[in-house]
Amino acid sequence: MGRYYSTKKIILKKIERNTMKNKETLVGAHISAAGGLYKSVERALEIGCTTMQIFTKSNRSWFAPALTHEEIEAFKQVMKNSGLSKIMVHSSYLINLAASNTEVRNKSITSLAKELGRCQDLEIPYLVLHPGSHTGSGDELGINHIAKNLDTVFEKVPGKTMILLETMAGQGTNIGSFAHIKSIIEQTENKDRLGVCLDTCHVFAAGYNIGTPTGYEEMMDEFCKTIGIRRLKALHLNDSKMPWGSKRDRHASLGEGEIAQTAFKRIMQDERLVNVPKILETPDPAKYPDEIKLLKSFT
Ligand SMILES: [Zn+2]
Ligand SMILES: [Zn+2]
Repeated sequence: MGRYYSTKKIILKKIERNTMKNKETLVGAHISAAGGLYKSVERALEIGCTTMQIFTKSNRSWFAPALTHEEIEAFKQVMKNSGLSKIMVHSSYLINLAASNTEVRNKSITSLAKELGRCQDLEIPYLVLHPGSHTGSGDELGINHIAKNLDTVFEKVPGKTMILLETMAGQGTNIGSFAHIKSIIEQTENKDRLGVCLDTCHVFAAGYNIGTPTGYEEMMDEFCKTIGIRRLKALHLNDSKMPWGSKRDRHASLGEGEIAQTAFKRIMQDERLVNVPKILETPDPAKYPDEIKLLKSFT
């Protein structure tokens, strides 16, 4: 009898633990919003997402027509019952707050402020941003520009949405190493509205061999010491077409690139990352359902 009860207890505990885990497994992908923003929600749910990333406009244009009241309400309505949480928007690739050209910087400020405004209207908590590229003026000036321009954007658009600075691969004049991001945050006034999005492909290309247990721990250690784990608000889970340390940013589907799959298992099992949404930006959306299943199977 006693044995029966204890076995039952263990099973119940297991179910409870699994339910807890499922609730906490925040896995999703970059989802198309073609045909209306609200449609992204349905697409995300169909493939098993519990979170997602979208563009609220073309990622290769500076500006877009304002969202209508109907579009905003339709999105908020479907989001409300979706079970999706901690979703994010990726900002336009054209935005460069660090540009040496004043006109580009000013256009970037206006464009980013509009993107931030759209997130606030849609009640989306995070806006992911590539920090910028100094285009020849040097890291220090580039970082100064980014910090100052972020403050300008935050002052133009008050509210709750946080901007997440993405860790970059170290290509060309891109700013986005852990040390760069630390400096940007130090130099801004509105620190409470800044977080970080860590991309596995980018950190691998930047020189952290996250496919090995020691390489992974070294990367996490450095992140914690330099930026601080509480700033980490999102993860982009991408394999890398380019080899370790190549400083080149080319995403691959999970298992088809240079990063050992154990890296993704480690991330899914890392207690420090349990509540951090994990987003696939892999090149083949047809593979998303299997990739999501795989990631969930690691927890
Ligand atoms: Zn990314
Ligand atoms: Zn990338």
